Amino acid sequence: MNAPLIDPFARTIRYLRVSVTDRCDFRCVYCMSEHMTFLPKADLLTLEELDRLCSAFVRLGVQKLRITGGEPLVRKGILTFLRAMSRHLGSGALHELTLTTNGSQLGRFAQDLAECGVRRVNVSLDTLDPAKFAAITRWGRLDQVLDGITAARDAGLRVKINAVALKGVNEDELFPLVEWCGREGHDLTFIEVMPMGDLGNEGRLEQYWPLSDLRARLAAQYRINDLDERTGGPARYVRLEETGQKIGFITPMTHNFCESCNRVRLTCTGELYMCLGQEDVADLRAPLRGGVDDAPLEAAIRAAIARKPKGHDFDYSRQRVAGRMTRHMSHTGG
Ligand code: SAM
Ligand code: SF4
Repeated sequence: MNAPLIDPFARTIRYLRVSVTDRCDFRCVYCMSEHMTFLPKADLLTLEELDRLCSAFVRLGVQKLRITGGEPLVRKGILTFLRAMSRHLGSGALHELTLTTNGSQLGRFAQDLAECGVRRVNVSLDTLDPAKFAAITRWGRLDQVLDGITAARDAGLRVKINAVALKGVNEDELFPLVEWCGREGHDLTFIEVMPMGDLGNEGRLEQYWPLSDLRARLAAQYRINDLDERTGGPARYVRLEETGQKIGFITPMTHNFCESCNRVRLTCTGELYMCLGQEDVADLRAPLRGGVDDAPLEAAIRAAIARKPKGHDFDYSRQRVAGRMTRHMSHTGG
């Protein structure tokens, strides 16, 4: 038996997020500039390499795999990869295989995803207004995403909606979004905008709508109960008593969630980020391409986990963005 991955702060790493591409069919304003330069295709790990790497993590105790990007469903051959990963569900080593997607391709893929053993998907959707949706995503079409969400539900997938809270953009849609999710049976999580990418500090700060304020507005309308439930991630949950709905809050800025962090992030080029909010990175592509023996690869993974930092340094508190990361969310996968 392989010993599990335990970091210097006694956190066992059970959750791997994998960005399978940096490309996307949208250009969300908080995520990418309109004229993004993407990585040369040759830099990307092949699907076989992704398989070998993810399988190594599963051997070392990872139980949950979240596939993200960029937009994971625009990666060519993604179903081949997911089908291959489903063997780890079959063996019982992997407990969950899931995706975070913008939903644009779900109409095409939902049924296949269900057949690969995917049970839930997170779909990013910040607004139900077609014009605002087009403005936020630049290239996206709301109706296509809504059709995708319907297809996912029809295929038996549970859908969780992730909405980035954007000051002056979707503030007026708080209740419409909550009510729509309630009617459709989707869980809903709000995310605070994070200082990523290259849009400039001022832009990020202008968009920042603290979830403490969002929560206070919810509490004015509903009775809300804090739930104990923790997923090892940054989300905290409440239940709306009147409707029974569960609402999540991801508040990297206003709440420190690092103490229970059980996750690491792999980029599409084989870099391992031990923390979303720190620059330290481990190269797993070299040991991967160094030969067919997995021992050096496993040693590199263990060495990386031994460097996992205690936490991140994001901070908006002084009206400037401290600890800002220059890399894009599409690189590390959010
Ligand atoms: N393309 C997929 C999607 O949009 O769901 C997966 C990748 S996307 C980078 C993952 C998540 O990161 C999305 O929910 C997106 O809204 C979120 N995101 C991107 N940039 C962000 C930022 N600057 N702050 C907070 N969340 C961000
Ligand atoms: Fe694409 Fe997701 Fe980034 Fe939007 S948030 S540009 S959908 S990767």
